[in-house]
Amino acid sequence: MEYRELGRTGMKVSALSFGASSLGNVFRKVNEADGIRTVHTCIDLGINLIDVSPYYGLTLAETVLGKALNEIPRDKYYLATKVGRYGESTFDFSAARVTASVDESLRRLNVEYVDIIQCHDIEFGDLNQVVNETIPALRRLQETGKVRFVGITGLPLKAFEVVAEQTAVDTILSYCRYSLNDTALADKLPYFQQKGIGVISASPLSMGLLTNRGAPEWHPASTAVRAACAQAAAYCRAHGADIAQLALQFSLAHPGITTTMVGTADPENMVKNAQ
Ligand code: NAD
Repeated sequence: MEYRELGRTGMKVSALSFGASSLGNVFRKVNEADGIRTVHTCIDLGINLIDVSPYYGLTLAETVLGKALNEIPRDKYYLATKVGRYGESTFDFSAARVTASVDESLRRLNVEYVDIIQCHDIEFGDLNQVVNETIPALRRLQETGKVRFVGITGLPLKAFEVVAEQTAVDTILSYCRYSLNDTALADKLPYFQQKGIGVISASPLSMGLLTNRGAPEWHPASTAVRAACAQAAAYCRAHGADIAQLALQFSLAHPGITTTMVGTADPENMVKNAQ
């Protein structure tokens, strides 16, 4: 496994990182033991950055991850979770809610601190509130030792810049923006680098589009994009290749992306992904 510095945090994170949303039954109903085994497999493979959110499976992913982490020494991994999103259309970026939310997450995760606390899907919130209320509240939590660094996550790349122009953020988590079907993040990397912001690029399989199983019902892609990805997957199969492997290889090959974050609740998939 390769390790790289994440922005100015001083954390040396694995080039491949793990997103635990799958543990909240986001893509399919998963067996809890398989989910826990996947986390342990990640650690065995040298993966040292794990991301989750109270939103995934409406706290289920954090709860299952907490059971898995119980059996792993705290210095073996960096842990990221989020605040602000609590349901498909339930958002609350107020200082009071996000402060309480961190305590709830720490309890579910069975840890005393998280390495990165991120405002989840900022484009659905009021960016002024994120800048003037949410991030300052999270900075205050830094002083208590409950969180080490503060980040933001979302889909539109512009939202990251709007926030980063007004206040310091340590990391951004961008998703579905550096994969076979969308490479928009690449153009923005110099901007984040110049600001010293660590970049986590999530969803290299475009949240299932670039797999043989295909994307789940709730996936926002258009019918045309779904059809094109299904056709590409079939083409790869016909040539004896797995589109997931090609997609991951593509995303990992960009030298400017510190870490590519993939999700699964199948330990064997994680071994394949690391290979
Ligand atoms: P992903 O692109 O990693 O795809 C996940 C899907 O691919 C799952 O269905 C999984 O079973 C499948 N898969 C994984 N490896 C496979 C393999 N080798 N062969 C076949 N199928 C395979 O999408 P993701 O899980 O949404 O993204 C990764 C993580 O990034 C999330 O778990 C989450 O932690 C983070 N993320 C955050 C945000 C946000 O903050 N807004 C958004 C998206 C993702």
